[in-house]
Amino acid sequence: FERHGGTGLLRHDAPLPDDSIDPDAAKVVRRLERAGYQAYLVGGCVRDLLLQGKPKDFDVATNARPEDVRALFRNCRVIGRRFRLAHVLFSGGKVIEVATFRRNPGASLSEDDAAEVDDLLIRSDNVFGEAHEDALRRDFTINGLFYDLDRRQVLDWCGGMEDIGNRAIRTIGDPYVRFREDPVRSLRAIKFAARLDLGIDPVVYDAMVATRDDLAKAARPRIFEEILRLMRGGAAHRSMWLLWEVGAMAVLVPELAAFLDDEEGTGGGAARFWRRLDAIDTLTRERGAPLDDIVLWTALLHEPLAEACTGERDVIRAAYDFLEPIIARIAMPRRIADALRRILSMLPRLSSGRVGRLARTEFLELAL
Ligand code: ATP
Ligand code: MG
Repeated sequence: FERHGGTGLLRHDAPLPDDSIDPDAAKVVRRLERAGYQAYLVGGCVRDLLLQGKPKDFDVATNARPEDVRALFRNCRVIGRRFRLAHVLFSGGKVIEVATFRRNPGASLSEDDAAEVDDLLIRSDNVFGEAHEDALRRDFTINGLFYDLDRRQVLDWCGGMEDIGNRAIRTIGDPYVRFREDPVRSLRAIKFAARLDLGIDPVVYDAMVATRDDLAKAARPRIFEEILRLMRGGAAHRSMWLLWEVGAMAVLVPELAAFLDDEEGTGGGAARFWRRLDAIDTLTRERGAPLDDIVLWTALLHEPLAEACTGERDVIRAAYDFLEPIIARIAMPRRIADALRRILSMLPRLSSGRVGRLARTEFLELAL
């Protein structure tokens, strides 16, 4: 047990197998260390390795500034204007993201003060900091772990190792504060719970329910993207079920939440909806890759959309009226909304087996 800036640091021996660690990420860490900087593997990759999963990508955190990183690697770009990051490029299009330690700009507020401030929404978080500050600005304890390749140790300032052991999702710090700072974290909690089969700590769960209305304040493109991530990870059914249960679906896609509220248990539309998500999850796992975004949105919205169109004389108009508020609320690109309308209009002919001249339209495969 060591002390670091008043924050408890626990070092856990955790010799991860060498072949589980991306060799290029290891190269980046070693070169930064040889140049005298601190460098660790961080975030999702450490979490996934400790949970015996396969990381999507490997991120590095360091006390080197983006320009310092660029000076060390020829194959390096500094990207982003507000959050400047270094991308080190390797063959096959692989990118290792190297981020300089940052701290939460609101961290100087005590929790009592924070409760007084009405608007905790973080708008800029590009303040450089130290390793422990970088760990503590992260969202969940399981995402706040750093891996020291040299010593084969996990650095834990937030109790993440214990939560990995308990398979529990807990925020770093007060969940009400953390969800109000960034409501999208609530969707991330759902994503990790569903995808990694973890439990959400009851206090955290209650905070998600209590702060769900804040989701209306979040940046709309982030919401759009995060809903897709919930659908892409092979756990769409569990994700959407949690989203509905927490009450976040009623804020983000009330059209779908109301449909499920009405239909649940009738064995009709809601049952078809959940079965469709099961099929999406099965396909995603078989392919080892997510389905097209258009397919995912169709799976989400087809049932309530079809309901809104039944009995309407002008179906295209009805579909348009149904989708318009969704487009506005979650910044759904026109391209996706248009495709949804096209696919909806094709479905009657597809289900009766009369593909005919549809064979030539670009959406046939997606519709199927
Ligand atoms: P995935 O496997 O889905 O990529 P991830 O944990 O790597 O999961 P990213 O979105 O890639 O998620 O983010 C990388 C890391 O950055 C996270 O592990 C977390 O530590 C931190 N992070 C991401 N989003 C937030 C946020 N909204 N608030 C605080 N920390 C965040
Ligand atoms: Mg990641």
